[in-house]
Formats: sequence, C-alpha cells, structure tokens
Amino acid sequence: MALADPPSASIPDSASLGRSDPWTATDAAALYGLDRWGDPYFSVGARGHVMVQPRGDRGGSLDLVELVRELQGRDLSLPLLIRFDDILEDRLERLHGAFERAITQYGYDGRYQGVFPVKCNQQRHVVEQLVESGRRWHFGLEAGSKAELLIALSLLDDPDALLICNGYKDRRYIETAILARRLGRQPVVVIEQADEVERIIAASSALGGAPFIGIRAKLSARSTGRWGSSVGERAKFGLSIPDVLSTVERLREAGLLDDLRLLHFHVGSQINDIAVLKDALQEAGQIYAELTRLGAPMGFLDVGGGLGIDYDGSRTATAASTNYSLQNYANDVVATIRECCEPHGIRPPTLVSESGRALASHFSVLVFDVLGAGGHGEAVPPAAEGEALILRNLRDTHAAIAAIAAERTVDGQDAGERGVVERLQEAWNDALKFKEDALNAFRLGYLSLPERATAERLTWASCQAIARQLEGLAADTVIPQELQALPAALAGTYYANLSVFRSAPDTWAIDQLFPVLPIHRLDERPTRLGSFADLTCDSDGKIARFIDRGQVKPLLELHGLRPGEPYWIGLFLGGAYQEVMGNLHNLFGSTNAVHIRLAAGGAYRVEHVVRGNTNAEVLEAMEHDPDLLLERLRLASEQAIGRGDLAISDARRLMAHLRASLEQTTYLEA
Ligand SMILES: *Cc1c(COP(=O)(O)O)cnc(C)c1O
Repeated sequence: MALADPPSASIPDSASLGRSDPWTATDAAALYGLDRWGDPYFSVGARGHVMVQPRGDRGGSLDLVELVRELQGRDLSLPLLIRFDDILEDRLERLHGAFERAITQYGYDGRYQGVFPVKCNQQRHVVEQLVESGRRWHFGLEAGSKAELLIALSLLDDPDALLICNGYKDRRYIETAILARRLGRQPVVVIEQADEVERIIAASSALGGAPFIGIRAKLSARSTGRWGSSVGERAKFGLSIPDVLSTVERLREAGLLDDLRLLHFHVGSQINDIAVLKDALQEAGQIYAELTRLGAPMGFLDVGGGLGIDYDGSRTATAASTNYSLQNYANDVVATIRECCEPHGIRPPTLVSESGRALASHFSVLVFDVLGAGGHGEAVPPAAEGEALILRNLRDTHAAIAAIAAERTVDGQDAGERGVVERLQEAWNDALKFKEDALNAFRLGYLSLPERATAERLTWASCQAIARQLEGLAADTVIPQELQALPAALAGTYYANLSVFRSAPDTWAIDQLFPVLPIHRLDERPTRLGSFADLTCDSDGKIARFIDRGQVKPLLELHGLRPGEPYWIGLFLGGAYQEVMGNLHNLFGSTNAVHIRLAAGGAYRVEHVVRGNTNAEVLEAMEHDPDLLLERLRLASEQAIGRGDLAISDARRLMAHLRASLEQTTYLEA
C-alpha cells in the first residue's frame, strides 16, 4: 500500500469518530474519559468548554476557556500552567478524610500524620500552600537533599509537624537536622544506608544531642510497573534486615536507641496494584513490631509514597491507573497495621505517608495552543487540458466515490450498508492501483512532478471521501480492516506551542500517559485524528500516546482548525514531577504560571503570577551574556551597513527584534 502504514496500536473505535447521531458535551466527556479521571474537578460544560470545579463537589465552578482568555488579557501568553490551589487543598482534605474514616472504621488507636515529599513539586508557592493548608493536621514535609531540607526547615514552622529527612546524608546534613531540633522543629533523620548510623553517632556526640532517628527498611515485597525496583534486595535505598539489626545494636551502644522513632519504607511511585501494598504493609508491620521488641520507643510507621493516580480512569492495575481508590488505600494501611500490632499488644503507631503524586497531580493544568496542522486535504485539484490517462483514472475513481455518497443521500439507508461497503472497498482498491501506476510512470519519466502531485492529491481526496462515507454507516456495519485503517492514515500532526521536554518530560522519558484534550469545541463532534508535535527540533518532541481506558492509543480525536480561531489543548494531571524534571532542550524555558483561587460568586483571584523564563534567562543559564551577544550583533550590523549590505533602518529593526526577544518567553507569540 502506497500510503503511510497506519500506526499498529488500536485506532479509536468507529463509535467515537463520525456517525450521524447528534454530538453533545456528554459524548465528549465520555470520549476523553473526563467523566472518570476528571471527577470531581473537571467536566464539560454545556457550551462545550472544560469546566473546573476547584473545590471538588463542595461547589463553585470556573470556565477554563474564559479563564484562559482573561489571563491572556493580562498579558499571560500560552503555553500557560494554571495551578488551582483549591484543588491542592481539596486533595489534602481528601487524603486526611480517607485516613480519618479508616481510623474510625477499624477502631485504630492511633493517628495519621502525613508529609509532602518536596521532590514532587518544589515550587515555592506550592510548598507554601501545602504547609498553610495542612496546618490544621500538622501536615509536614519530606526532604531528599540539602536544598530540599533548607526549603522544609524554613517553611515548616509548626513544631508538631514532621520533617522527614531522606536521601543520602553527609555530616553537615545530619548536624543541620540535629540543630534544627533546637529550633523547635521535628526532623527525623531516616537511615537509608548502613554507614549513615556512624555519621549520626559522631554528629550527635559532637553536638551533644541527637535527631529523631528513623530506619528505612528494604522490603522483599516487590511492586510492579515502572518503579518496581524501588524495593527488593537490589533496591538503591534502605537497609537489609541484617543491617537493620546491626544498626539497632550500634544505636543501643551509642545510647541513641531512645531516639529511634520511625520505620520507613517506600515501594516505589504509582503503585498500580493494591495487592503489592498489602504485602509490603504486612512485612513492614512485622518489622515495626520487632523493633519495638528490641527496645526502641518507635511511635511512627511511615508507609512512604506510591499512592497512585488513575490517569486514564480505567480503575485497572495497568501503568496509567490503579485498581484501588484513595479510601481503599487508607483502609488497607490502617487495617493491616492494626492487625500486625494487636497480637503483639503493641501500641499502634502514628501512621505517616509521603504521598506526593496523589496530592499534587490534579491541581495544575497546562494549556497550550496549536499553531497549525499538517495532514491531507480533501480538495480535488482542477483538471488540466489533455490530462494523462492515469490522472483521469484517479479522477474517475474519486467521482465514483462521490456518486456512492450521492446515491446514499437520495436513497437514505435503503441501498444496504453491505453493498455500500463493498463498493467503497472496490473504489479504494482502484485508487491504490492507479496511484501505484502514477508512481511507476513518474519513475520512468512519463509523469512530471506537478502531475505526480495531482495524483497524490487525488488519492488522498478519495481516501478522505471514503473515510467520510464510513462515518455515516450504521454502528453495526462490518467494515474491512483496510478501510478501518483509513482515518488513521489520514491523521494529522498538530503543531503545539510547547516543549514536551520542558512541560511534560515524563511522556518522553518514561512513556507516561496524561489526559490530553481540547478545552473547547467539545459540543462539536471531533472529525479528525491527530497527534502533537512540539517546538523542539527533536523527533522525540511529540505527544503520540493517549489514554484509552486501560490501553494506549496513538491518535487523539481532534477538530479541524478554523482560520483565525485558536485551538486550545489541555494537558491534565501533570502537577507532580513534570516541572522539575523538565529540561531546557533547545532552550525552551519554563512557561508562564498562575495560581488561581475560587472567590465568592463564581469569581476567582489570581493569587500569584510566575513569569516564564525569558530568552535572556535561558541564555544566561548556559553561561552566555545576552548583552555581549547583542553587542557582537551590533558590530556585525555596523560592518554590514559599512559594506552597504544593510540599511540603517533594517539594522534598527533587527536589533529591536533581538532586544525584544531577550525580554520575552521562549515560546511562539500568537
Ligand atoms: C519519591 C518519593 C516519594 C513520593 O512518591 P509518590 O509516588 O509521589 O507518592 C515518597 N517517599 C520517597 C522516599 C520517595 O523517594
């Protein structure tokens, strides 16, 4: 077949594209899965716009399209990261609510006290918001490096909140934690490597005081999926059981066993299958009981991160989903630990979780614009005088397809769908044959380049015409594989004003799926299939994997672009990890970002504006001096003026463009 091979993965079932029954916002919500992964924060409004309910089901709603328009009015250009602080707060509330319910339900004689792993999103306003909103639960922070420790120490001023210190630790890190205890903070230094205990002992004796101490255990329970290797014998972090025992003995010898308060484990991010968590909890519960028996006061069991997000709304144990809810998770943690403690007569520990992804994914929405779309048109090129036979054949084929269409409109559905499919298949075979003939003729020198172009256009026009016919068929019509593949072959590339490497790096690095969909025109049937190509000069700079209820599809249902009208796409659930993992590939910098708060009466407040990197900033990040770069170009222009190659007015224009670019973000202007 002369057309590009259609992608091998599933193409959307014909129910989603085409079909003659009317299309409503409800259809769009179902097609893009918004009614599943979006609940309760995102939905489709009657005008076909994505609506945001920042406070979940507690009322209040914003029209995302209106919001973007008004933000643009404030000179905040796309791509734009919109952070809904109310959603962050709602997630925090849901997490605590789930644990509170589980604690009541299982009669657990202990508390839940969470921390936010700062590595998930270190942005100042995000961490500040979490600390502020979490105050009523003494919600704490988790740090994995010295810089994160600095953030946590300085922002967390609640003496009852936990400050979990993970990651590799040198002497200075440990001493900082010990001294911070004197500031009234509650740092827990978690021993992740066997040799850290000696540094803790040395620092404690030097400073005459110890930090609270935790131990991270390497569990044998294995997670599945991408982060499965975070546990198990060969995991990067954590102490093996023999190391746990020798660490306890060393702490006892050094008189520090009384400071051993916490057991920590982490089975990896995005746990897809709840069974994995249960195994880990049972194992950790037993280790906790043993540590108590060995004489450590303990008191805290930290179940780490891993609470997953249902990115595709399928509720399955597949990579982009989870087979459990937040409540299931809390129930399992509480019930399993209770079961471990009861027979030993041990006081149930305060339960700590380090849920990052589960808290921070929903609150930020990336909106980008489409700059244009490639693909194949359906226009039929005008016939030339004395056209070659091959071209006339193609033209006749296209006319035959048009005739099938015309008959169907006259006869209604009476012609019989089977007959129609057969005739379309026949026409398509003809088109392919004639296209092949045209290519051969071109190779042999019988067809000119413009004639070959006409042949290709006619073939694509036939392809479009057939695809359109298929759309109108009854839902139960059997369509041959070859014809089913036509919409995918016609798929267009939508050019996106963003850098995937900057704004959604995990789509590239680890094939992560995020829900992506147009944020408007959702009351209009999508008639095209497409994928996105970004601004970078890198063929990996694309979004070509989309959620599909537990599966992945290579093409997304989209709308045809309308001249002079923007087409805005939202990437959802990307609030965790994407910003900091994003890089400067091709020197595309951070995008503009805003923090939005719902206000009374359906209004909103723009709480913070975080301007995206300017070109000058990204140049400086690579050690270039923007002034020096400009000066060199000024000298080059002077020389060109001297040679008579450049008019003074053009030189001025050139310098003005360069200066303006330095002040602007790295993305294209609308
Ligand atoms: C990354 C990490 C987390 C956060 O994991 P999520 O899956 O985002 O909840 C928690 N604890 C540790 C030790 C981590 O390394």
